[in-house]
Amino acid sequence: MCGIVGYVGKKDSVEILLNSLAKLEYRGYDSAGIAVFDEGKIVVEKTKGRLADLGEKLEKTYRPKGTCGIGHTRWATHGEPSDINSHPHGNEKITVVHNGIIENYNKIKTFLVEKGYVFESETDTETVAKLLDYYYNGNPFETIVKVLKEIEGSYGLGIMFADFPEKIFAVRKDSPLIVGVGEGENFIASDVPAILKYTRNYYLIEQNEIVTLSKDEVVIQDIHGDIIKKELKVADWDEESAEKGGFEHFMLKEIHEQPTALKTTIMPRVLNGMPFLEECGITTDMLKLYNKIFIVACGTAMHAGMVGKYLIERIARVDVTVDIASEFRYRNPIISSKDLVILISQSGETADTKAVLRLAKEHRATTLSIVNVKGSSIARESDFVIYTHAGPEISVASTKAYTVQLSIMYLLTFQLAYARGKITEEECREYTRKLVELPDIITDVLEIKDKCQYAASKLVNADSLLYIGRGLDYALSMEGSLKLKEISYIHSESYAAGELKHGTISLVTEHMPVIAVATQDDLFEKTISNVKEVKARGAYVLMICKENADYDNDAVDFVIKIPAADNIFMPIITAVPLQFIAYYTSVLKGCDVDKPRNLAKSVTVE
Ligand code: GLU
Repeated sequence: MCGIVGYVGKKDSVEILLNSLAKLEYRGYDSAGIAVFDEGKIVVEKTKGRLADLGEKLEKTYRPKGTCGIGHTRWATHGEPSDINSHPHGNEKITVVHNGIIENYNKIKTFLVEKGYVFESETDTETVAKLLDYYYNGNPFETIVKVLKEIEGSYGLGIMFADFPEKIFAVRKDSPLIVGVGEGENFIASDVPAILKYTRNYYLIEQNEIVTLSKDEVVIQDIHGDIIKKELKVADWDEESAEKGGFEHFMLKEIHEQPTALKTTIMPRVLNGMPFLEECGITTDMLKLYNKIFIVACGTAMHAGMVGKYLIERIARVDVTVDIASEFRYRNPIISSKDLVILISQSGETADTKAVLRLAKEHRATTLSIVNVKGSSIARESDFVIYTHAGPEISVASTKAYTVQLSIMYLLTFQLAYARGKITEEECREYTRKLVELPDIITDVLEIKDKCQYAASKLVNADSLLYIGRGLDYALSMEGSLKLKEISYIHSESYAAGELKHGTISLVTEHMPVIAVATQDDLFEKTISNVKEVKARGAYVLMICKENADYDNDAVDFVIKIPAADNIFMPIITAVPLQFIAYYTSVLKGCDVDKPRNLAKSVTVE
């Protein structure tokens, strides 16, 4: 899940590489490193830790000078985070940065060791660097082709050959790679935000296309050497949208961006008061056909799918299975050509989700992706794509990307239900009208952050806590719980409130706070009974409910009231206080909110 960058031009490459890497740190921050052509020689500087540590190291030791280089920010897959395992890897002749996993690295390593190579690191990447060295015949293109024939797995590679100063070579398979095109300067990067400070023009590189970059030229070839002509894309995100804009953390900024992100996602998909997914090629006729719907995703996106399941089954009456991509892909699922497989991924590069997409296509199911990053692999490979317009999400903990995914779940549910005659046109219009009003409601909900901050102060010393809810509240509490644990490191589980008594309630003591999400009118009394059960066992109970909810004050310790909308819309509204609670708990604990330990945002490895 690392980020790779490269620059060739006329300016100080170190500054540009560091700036670009800073925009990719969300992809991993176990170590950072650069390689620069300094007076014709490849000079490598790297260190365990964050980019800031690399910056300090360069100031203390040596800051290479040169106008061409490559850089890396790592999320370790093979070998612990350490100086020696940091990228770039290679020698004075050939140096490599890599995003992905070389699956057959052991076989290649054994082969190279027999040939006399000595390995320094535990990484899979070093095998690529050494294999390039082994095959090197003075022609970088031919050498890269030979290596591509041997390596298996996923890679985005940036390569420098000492014999070719002021040139960068790059190739990808199953890991993302773009080429930024500037005036007298060119770039490579794993993701578009890395280049936005310098240019908005870029090429998307496809599987096994080999790029040769100099300051005035970008040459893209297939493995046979044929030149590939590409359409130059223009990024519609500007640099500012990838900055903190006065907020203390990206997460806080992104929580506040939700009303705008929701409007930009919903409005183009509403026409004359009705859902309008035809914009994405999805017609009413086609929605009548499917037998079964699978929603497959990972992490937060999977939680958006859980809400989707409750909505679709309740309103459109279609059978929906939600699954975790890493499980689904290996369980030989029963999918047919009559099914619709929905893939949800913020980055559009999530490795497991991408694998499910390919599996669904093998079974000839229709595939529909819900993706935030334009032109990403999942978006390009699926039959239909609905883009969420959240803008760049930098914080590792997802907030606005989740709520916009939910908004698409609503649109899809309404269009599906209408297409299948489960709701009338009037009902569909009414639902759609209420959806359109949601961004303004979310703006009001942002005002309750002080209450959430207070609630966080009651959780900060807990070792473990529970989120409980029923129905849509349960689907949402999965996300609330994940948010809290990933950024505050407090152990947390979400539980179907009615299921507690079948085992988990034995964990409840006065040391285990319980967050009850109780926004569903039809289930409210039932949830309150479960709240009383945990309260009777000494738990500190924090409840989130509608402003007009009627409950017994003794049953709860603290209540956060939120605007009362229709039950089906409550998850998207309630997501906001849950995000704030996680955020403030993390801040109070002094954690690194935007870059929680062991995580990376775009999970491009299995
Ligand atoms: N496999 C490489 C390493 O562990 C790259 C990891 C990645 O791209 O996430 O260094």
